[in-house]
Amino acid sequence: MREKKDERRLCATWMGVAGFLISDGCDSFYIDPFVSRYSIFRVLAGLPLPPRIELVRRWIGLTGGASAKAVVVSHSHFDHALDAPFFAGETGAVLVGSESTASIGLGAGLGEGSIKRVRPGDTHDIGDFRVRFVKSVHGFGLFGRTPYPGSIDRPLAPPAPAAAYRLGEVFSLVIEHPLGVIIHHGSAGRAAEVFYGVRADMLLLCVAGRGNTAGYLEQTAAACGAKTVVPMHFDNFFRPLEARMKHIPFLGMEEFVKTAAKVLPDAVVAIPEPGRALFV
Ligand SMILES: [Zn+2]
Repeated sequence: MREKKDERRLCATWMGVAGFLISDGCDSFYIDPFVSRYSIFRVLAGLPLPPRIELVRRWIGLTGGASAKAVVVSHSHFDHALDAPFFAGETGAVLVGSESTASIGLGAGLGEGSIKRVRPGDTHDIGDFRVRFVKSVHGFGLFGRTPYPGSIDRPLAPPAPAAAYRLGEVFSLVIEHPLGVIIHHGSAGRAAEVFYGVRADMLLLCVAGRGNTAGYLEQTAAACGAKTVVPMHFDNFFRPLEARMKHIPFLGMEEFVKTAAKVLPDAVVAIPEPGRALFV
């Protein structure tokens, strides 16, 4: 059934990895939209990763984001930032992120007028939304190391290999709206300040690289009293988004869900599906 036009509701529509369209039925914006997705061979071999504009257009259509006002990027790794300037270019949205994200935008051909650089503590308003950029940390990568550390200090023209997409500043996003609060924690680092003194209605929570699940949930979902926890960044993003979804190897999704039921007895854990809106 179609919703009444005057009935505004907050929703988050997942698009794989840490990508979402956030909407209140009136204004919308993207976070970390990444749909190009490349084989693990291509990534590990250091081959250039060409953005797939036809997929960007398709997912703008599937998520209903044609009038998105911003594309917000939580950190500059390729699986968060590679497609972001193209989502901005196609929709006319402003690209909002770190200096490194700005370098990705400039390299992709966006003008300075379409880019906003933010630092920890900054905010960006979109309609009734206020997005707060909170300093965060990256989760554990392979062998406990953060992949591709450093920053991108000059315009990065695509196609470029994965290693060119350096980390840059890592943000968690506290999204405040009269209808509720959503937190996007795009990488599984322990960043207490993100969750301190905030009550979240919905927490979009990276599960890859989380380490001990119970400890992670205590410091994130339990700390902010999240009513709904939406795990994300669990899909194997070396496969096409529209292929049958597989999890990242050794991710332990079942263990995550079981532990969440114990640690967060009052929260709902909602597993997202690509292209389907989850309402706050
Ligand atoms: Zn990352």
